[in-house]
Amino acid sequence: MRAEDFLGADDTIVALATPPGVSAIAVIRLSGKEAINITNKVFKGKDLSKQESHTIHFGTIRDGEQIIDEVLVSLFIAPKSFTKENSVEISSHGSQYIVRKIIEVLLKNGARLAKPGEFTRRAFINGQFDLAQAEAVADLIHSDSAAAHQAAMNQMRGGFSEKIRALREQLVHFASMIELELDFVEEDVEFASREDLRNLIIKLQKVIHPLMDSFQLGNVIKNGVPTVIAGKPNAGKSTLLNVLLNEEKAIVSDIPGTTRDFIEDELVINGINFRFIDTAGLRETTDTIEAIGVERTHAKMKQASLIIYLFDLKNESLQEIFQEVNRLENLGIPFIKVGNKIDAAPQATLQALEEKGDFVMISAQGNIQIDFLKEKILEAVNLSNFKTGDTIVTNLRHYQSLQQTAQALDDVIKGLDLGVTNDFLAMDIRQALFHLGEITGEISTDDLLANIFSKFCIGK
Ligand code: GDP
Repeated sequence: MRAEDFLGADDTIVALATPPGVSAIAVIRLSGKEAINITNKVFKGKDLSKQESHTIHFGTIRDGEQIIDEVLVSLFIAPKSFTKENSVEISSHGSQYIVRKIIEVLLKNGARLAKPGEFTRRAFINGQFDLAQAEAVADLIHSDSAAAHQAAMNQMRGGFSEKIRALREQLVHFASMIELELDFVEEDVEFASREDLRNLIIKLQKVIHPLMDSFQLGNVIKNGVPTVIAGKPNAGKSTLLNVLLNEEKAIVSDIPGTTRDFIEDELVINGINFRFIDTAGLRETTDTIEAIGVERTHAKMKQASLIIYLFDLKNESLQEIFQEVNRLENLGIPFIKVGNKIDAAPQATLQALEEKGDFVMISAQGNIQIDFLKEKILEAVNLSNFKTGDTIVTNLRHYQSLQQTAQALDDVIKGLDLGVTNDFLAMDIRQALFHLGEITGEISTDDLLANIFSKFCIGK
């Protein structure tokens, strides 16, 4: 991928880098050959074209004679900037009017508005970092839990990319040896030892499979765990949600089935986001409004990765409880059995369930054993293998490329077992190299890049 391949790569781009809205300070960012010259045309203060990189200058931004704002201008001269191009950051007062006027006057003087992710895309094209790292920048911007932040940070600093590049290099060596053999078919020489190749592939698979396995956790870290609180009407679902979230977010009511709308909310336990979905209850019903709720409840349960199922120990018989447990087991989704209302439950029910041992016994209303339930929720997503500093795949695109690499490596082993000809072997190795290269962007297409960077916000 060369810079010229990308339409408008020579333009100087401008965008607001801070969130839109009123704030104390706003930062407007420019990047491109003319970034400093364009700013200089509208800036009154020192002559910016004569200043050194990494300096800050006070002055005013003007539209003709009219002063728009007093600002601080930071200069970054190529290649010592994020994009490796000339870059300017203008810190102005954070009024939407001022920001719009400053951007307008910069556009009038030769800049153009940046597209989503264009700053990061330029940084990638100019070799600031590879694709996996660029994607980590996006993840970092969106990370809202400690674990997501840690994973994105690790990836941005290149830990993951280093691993992939090292794997690729080892394989490239074999690929070139085997391709060389193709040039000497007549002579029947073997530059690449088949035994060494097999050992290398096995070694590569031992690195790739744990990376693939880490995606399950990576996905949880990045996207949270969709969790459903389910149970019969009046089992105490809204009450529990309130206690867990510690806020009056769901409407608690004595009338069965009044919690009709889904209230999605997040609970962070140990850096992991659990996205709770409150449901309208699971009873079969003829009430039409309620029936919509039940249908949606079933759909939501199927989307969930974890079900917290509440049993109403005050009003349900043991027989009813065990019937429901059976039904839940057939769903095939991990669930936690929670016995609610221990404060008001018959002694016999309490005793029977405590003997079974796998029920979490709580009182949602009385806030009893809620911390213990939180521990059980965390245990249910099986995060025990996670150590900080581990390389974790958090990105679906990377996961898919790893899967395809693993498949191609399997094909190489199969080829070796069957003694296929070199051209087939070379093809499978090239396939593996291709998919590894896709992760870091050594192999990339315009479509892929457009797809990735369009998900960034403007100004990033
Ligand atoms: P939902 O229909 O499952 O959402 O149930 P709600 O959260 O609306 O609760 C139904 C009723 O059970 C309300 O009157 C709650 O006050 C009551 N409730 C909830 N938790 C407990 C509990 O731990 N003990 C007792 N005794 N009542 C509870």
